[in-house]
Amino acid sequence: MRPTRARIHLDALRHNYRHARALGGGKALAVVKADAYGHGAIACARTLDGEADGFGVACIEEALELREAGIRAPIVLLEGFFDAGELPLIERHALWPVVASPWQVEALERHPLQHPLQVWLKLDSGMHRLGLAPGEYLDAWNRVRALPWIGGMVAMTHFSRADELGHPGTSDQLATFDATLARLPPGTPASVANSAALMAWPRTRRDWVRPGLMLYGAHTLDAPCAEAEALRAVMALESKVIAVRELAAGEPIGYGGAFVTTRPTRVGVVAAGYADGYPQYATSGTPVVIDGRAGELIGRVSMDMLTVDLTDHPGAGLGSDIELWGPRLPVADVAAHSGNSPYRLLAGLKRVPRVECGN
Ligand SMILES: *Cc1c(COP(=O)(O)O)cnc(C)c1O
Repeated sequence: MRPTRARIHLDALRHNYRHARALGGGKALAVVKADAYGHGAIACARTLDGEADGFGVACIEEALELREAGIRAPIVLLEGFFDAGELPLIERHALWPVVASPWQVEALERHPLQHPLQVWLKLDSGMHRLGLAPGEYLDAWNRVRALPWIGGMVAMTHFSRADELGHPGTSDQLATFDATLARLPPGTPASVANSAALMAWPRTRRDWVRPGLMLYGAHTLDAPCAEAEALRAVMALESKVIAVRELAAGEPIGYGGAFVTTRPTRVGVVAAGYADGYPQYATSGTPVVIDGRAGELIGRVSMDMLTVDLTDHPGAGLGSDIELWGPRLPVADVAAHSGNSPYRLLAGLKRVPRVECGN
C-alpha cells in the first residue's frame, strides 16, 4: 500500500478547542467547514460533540452531513442560505443561518415557519465581502426581530486582517461593530472573533467566538503570540522514502531539471505530490522531517512524488519516515515556502487516507 497518510490527532483537536473556549470566556463555535479544513468534519465534530457549544459550516450540504452523522448541537451556516428553498430544511434540522443580504431578510419575511429560527445577522464592518452595510443593519435587525418565527438573534461581523498584529484595521472594524451594537437592545449576544482575533485581540472576545484554523493547531499571526504557542498540530502528513539515488555534482533532478546538484547528493524519492495536496510550487529548501530530523525538499514537486536531500542524513534511506507537515513541522512553515497559507494546504488535502488517532 502507498505509505502516505494524514494522521489526525483528535486529542490535539480537543485540546485546541478547550484552549479556544477558555480564551473566549463564553461560547465557542467550532468551525468545521470544508471538511474541517481537510481533517474530516464528521470525525472532528464527533470528537467535540457534547463539548462544543455549536459547529460552524459553510453551507447546508455540510450541515446535513453532520446531522446525518448524529450531531445534535447547534450548527451555524456561515455563508447563509443561497435561496429561500432551503428554509424548510433549515427549519427541519434546526440550523442557524447567517443572514447577510437584504434579499435574505425579505425571504425570511415571506416564509412563515412553525419552529423558532435562530438567526445570526451579519454586519459588514469593513471587510466588504458578506454583510449588511452599517446604514442598512438596524432596519434589517428590526424587520427580522419583528417576525414571530424568529427565536434568538446574534449580531456578528468578521475581520479581514486580524492576523496582522500591528494593523489598525481590526480596531476600526470593532469600533464600527460596537457603534451598531450600541443601538441594539441591551444584552444582544455578539460574535466577532475568528481564530486570529480570539488569540491576538482580547477585546474581540464576545458571547460567541468562532475559532477555525486554531482548532487544527495552525495560525497565520504575523508576530509571536503566547496563545498560539499553546496550540497542538492536529494533522501529520506522513510518507516514506520509496527510492534512493546517488548523484554526482551537476546532475538535474526531476521535471524541468529545475534543481541541479551542487555536490555529490543522495536523493530520496518520497511518495507524496501535488495530487495529494502538497504545494506544487514548494521551492527547493522547503523543510521536511526525515526520520525525526530537519531536512529539505530538493527539485520540483511532481503529481505523486517529491524528492528530498538525504546527503546529510547518512542513517536515512529506503523506508525512512517523512513528515511533510505536522507536530514537528508547522504547516505554516511549509506554506510560506510556496506563497501559500496553512488554510490552503490543510483544506487542500486530497487522495491521502486519513487515520484518526488519540480520541
Ligand atoms: C471560516 C470562518 C471563521 C473561522 O476562521 P478562522 O480564521 O479559520 O478561525 C469564522 N467566522 C466566519 C464567518 C468564517 O467564515
